[in-house]
Amino acid sequence: MTYDKVDVPEGGEQITVTDDGEPEVPDNPIIPIIYGDGVGKDIGPVTQDVLQAAAKATGREINWMRVYAGESARKKYDENLPDETVKAIKEHRVAIKGPLTTPVGAGFRSLNVGLRKLLDLYANVRPTYHLNGVPSPVKEPEQMDMVTFRENTEDVYAGIEWKAGTDDVEEVREFVEDEMGATDIIHDGPVGIGIKPITEFGTKRLVRRAIDYALEHDRDSVTLVHKGNIMKFTEGQFRDWGYEVAEEEYGDEVITEDTLWEESDGEADDDVVVVNDRIADNMLQQILTRTDEYDVVATMNLNGDYMSDACGAQIGGLGIAPGANFGDGRLLAEPVHGSAPKYAGQDKVNPTAMILSGRIMLEYLGWNDAADLVRDAVEETISSGKVTYDLERQLDDAEKLAASEYAKEVVNNIEKLS
Ligand code: NAP
Repeated sequence: MTYDKVDVPEGGEQITVTDDGEPEVPDNPIIPIIYGDGVGKDIGPVTQDVLQAAAKATGREINWMRVYAGESARKKYDENLPDETVKAIKEHRVAIKGPLTTPVGAGFRSLNVGLRKLLDLYANVRPTYHLNGVPSPVKEPEQMDMVTFRENTEDVYAGIEWKAGTDDVEEVREFVEDEMGATDIIHDGPVGIGIKPITEFGTKRLVRRAIDYALEHDRDSVTLVHKGNIMKFTEGQFRDWGYEVAEEEYGDEVITEDTLWEESDGEADDDVVVVNDRIADNMLQQILTRTDEYDVVATMNLNGDYMSDACGAQIGGLGIAPGANFGDGRLLAEPVHGSAPKYAGQDKVNPTAMILSGRIMLEYLGWNDAADLVRDAVEETISSGKVTYDLERQLDDAEKLAASEYAKEVVNNIEKLS
């Protein structure tokens, strides 16, 4: 395929996908990268160097294809999200991006939401695990080893809402009160109203992905997190559809916690994934008090937002927390943090979150040896006390490095460890 304003690297090959949605990955894939806004220009290029070092150390090569969104795209294309960028990610299947500032004004409410919608990236996956040497506010951060699957396309994030004072919102109020019988609930006076769609389709594909992940990665459990005690027909239905997937689609490989208690003493075989559910408020305290009991979590958009940040805080915060968005046969890796504009161009912020997002990408490519190398090299660097400002300020006797110096240390460690 041809592109007007970006270069397709010569020599690289395209990743393809089998009929079952599994990626078929050459040893020299073309991978699009968006550096992103703000600190993206500091962390994007150095992340590239680290991931390339891990690829080369394991006998492969990434052919980077730089594509644009946000400020850099406005300069090059005079628009925020050029078609070429979306086309490149669709065509090449796997990509990585830095943070994008949400522009104020018309167009997409957020470029990130826009990209996820256009590419149908329905699962936001955030692994949270502790690396030796990373300071944490909890006593035993090593107990945290969870992967959150957050539904990315529906819930109150769907953007179906009406502003107070408009004719539209009054029409909706009238419909809800007069036609649907919800009287004496909405207080008189101005009101904003939003709709929370939770579909069977959206729920089941998310829960399937979480269970598949648990089976593939030898995880013990998948926990459906919801507020179904209050929102019975949305969050409660999410739980019920989630259990339907567990009970109807996986045979002996998956068992629900209730069945486990009915049939045995609550102990599952090692190779079986147990599916249970927890109410969201309880879950937020359980991740602090019973951290090691949780493994993979599947939840809706808003709960997932709260939960994954709470988990991230326990393992070192935004400079560390990685993420990725999955669609069918497609992945866009991205750190959890934003563009931190006040640090832009200072070669200062921690690139670990983007580097570890790249680790998720390497795992998706099936390059587990390269992915492990990245993790081990990051851990080695941090535990030797060589860190960026965000960790240095929390540690005694650490050496503060610029983002690029830190990334060089990680590359050196990749070379030493391989
Ligand atoms: P932010 O960019 O995540 O930054 C908030 C604070 O988090 C920073 O001031 C810094 O704290 C810390 N931080 C963030 N990234 C860090 C890193 N790599 N290393 C060390 N510390 C880091 O959040 P924001 O200021 O609310 O958002 C800025 C813009 O980013 C907004 O336009 C927002 O819409 C956008 N955003 C984009 C994404 C995305 O692209 N996926 C996600 C979230 C937000 P200290 O100052 O305390 O050091």
